[in-house]
Amino acid sequence: MKRIRGIKASPGIAIGRAFVLDRSKLRVERKAITAKKVAKEVERFLDAVETSRKQIEEIRSGLTSGTVEDLSTILDTHIMLLEDKTLKHEVIKLIKTQRVKAEWAVSEVIGHFLSLLEKLGDEYLGSRAVDLNDIKRRILANLGGGDFCRLDEVWKGAIVVAHELTPSETAQMDTNRVVGFVTELGSRTSHAAIMARALEIPAVVGAVNVLKYANQGTKIIVDGLEGAVIISPTKKHLEEYERKREAYQYYINELLASCDLPAETRDGFRIAIEANIEAPQDVKTAFEHGAAGIGLYRTEYLFIHQNRIPTEEEHFITYKSIAEQVAARSATIRTVDIGGEKLVDAIKMPDQLNPALGLRAIRLCFARPAIFKQQIRGILRASAYGNLKIMFPMISGIEELKKGKAIVQECKKELAKARIPFNEQIEIGIMVEIPSAALTADILAKECDFFSIGTNDLIQYSLAIDRANEEVAYLYNPLHPAVLRTIKMVVDAAHRNKVRVGVCGEMAGEPLYALMLIGLGVDELSMNAIAIPAVKKIIRSSLLSEALQIASKALSFRTAEEVQEYIYRVMLKRYPQEIASLVF
Ligand code: PEP
Ligand code: MG
Repeated sequence: MKRIRGIKASPGIAIGRAFVLDRSKLRVERKAITAKKVAKEVERFLDAVETSRKQIEEIRSGLTSGTVEDLSTILDTHIMLLEDKTLKHEVIKLIKTQRVKAEWAVSEVIGHFLSLLEKLGDEYLGSRAVDLNDIKRRILANLGGGDFCRLDEVWKGAIVVAHELTPSETAQMDTNRVVGFVTELGSRTSHAAIMARALEIPAVVGAVNVLKYANQGTKIIVDGLEGAVIISPTKKHLEEYERKREAYQYYINELLASCDLPAETRDGFRIAIEANIEAPQDVKTAFEHGAAGIGLYRTEYLFIHQNRIPTEEEHFITYKSIAEQVAARSATIRTVDIGGEKLVDAIKMPDQLNPALGLRAIRLCFARPAIFKQQIRGILRASAYGNLKIMFPMISGIEELKKGKAIVQECKKELAKARIPFNEQIEIGIMVEIPSAALTADILAKECDFFSIGTNDLIQYSLAIDRANEEVAYLYNPLHPAVLRTIKMVVDAAHRNKVRVGVCGEMAGEPLYALMLIGLGVDELSMNAIAIPAVKKIIRSSLLSEALQIASKALSFRTAEEVQEYIYRVMLKRYPQEIASLVF
């Protein structure tokens, strides 16, 4: 038995077998062969291609109806690429002329094709690069004896163990088969962690060296409540965690039973509790968990899921579906926030030394106005079908807000001219997630309808802590006095200008912080659906005066540690010990 501590990324207990996603096995070195071995090497290559083709056909024939249409088209493309004569011819030529191992030849030839595609700079062809890369990895895996695993081959009851998972890999996880995941890298606000909570899969990130101990198929427990991974547990551990899993499920079921009650304190103060979503189908889950609306739709996942740029029509259809589902409630559609760790192959990004400080979100949209306008037109058209709001991410100052609004205005004019209906009064708000926006909140508030504080980035940029870096995760503290003061400052500036202000970063969904945020004056909290019932319950069992007192006391401390110690003390008092360990 080996226990590894990590960072709790998504609550719950998962018990299953490790599905190890180890990309290091695919490193390719140039190895020479003798003339005598050339023919054998060519044969080995052709066998690997054939095995790859059979594997894909097998996956394709195993697809059931539902989500699979796109996947089936992708698999067809893969088969087509494997049957491509030029590819085979070039690899064989390299093996023969340079007398190298097939792995190297495959890597070189596909690498060359990829660089040609890149030079064309065409977005559609750019997305073919993903397929070529997939094919390369599969052939290499088959040449190396099949050690390489792909997420689409995951078995039922698997716990995915990886060095890191990209947002797109996490988004593609099949929740019918994956019961939990563990990564060596990452932090609570990395996008893989956010996706895990959205998918309601228990997860632990920042579990250093987990790959050293977890082998393919090893029995493993993910404790997303404490942030621990138990590899090869004993019978005693298994029994203990089965009990913990049941207790957690019982607690969740109890919370769910009352989640439709309003988020109102005992003295009648109401707050809007909304949900963050990553796909239109999440709206249903959000409402089932008691959300009053959708406070944040991260539309970049529309790009990430398909790994290409959606058309205006696709934007429209997606947002229309959300508009119709929310009906009289509302949904805030955040314009695309690509960049940083959220990447889409079809959008070519320059090499950036500091991606989090580089071309990202609204900056990328201004650099690629066609992509932005397509999305804005899609949102506007859908606004004729339900209460939608537009929100810009990563606004750093008034110029950007004005520029974004001018583009919305331009799109409105075009639609009006074409007699296409939209909501003329659609609200426009911004994410406050860059310190410069927080410091100029009074100026920004005069130009928009609402604020949503994105604490994930606000903390990262205020404290200069990479939100996805587990090495500095211990410094990433939402309770840092600088963060609390910033939130208070933004709320006050917003209220002076009669602008509502919400929080939609992960901080909003921490039951521990709910009362403090309300006491700081926040009007709305938007969070992962899974967090809503617990946060609502805390609000319903409290008084507004308590929240005000907690906030005022929290603001009086000099260090994050002192605030934390205080918050834990006041909040833990509210729960019996056995429940507290499930909540916090
Ligand atoms: C945030 O930064 O707090 C936020 C909600 O946006 P994202 O996590 O998508 O960057
Ligand atoms: Mg953000």
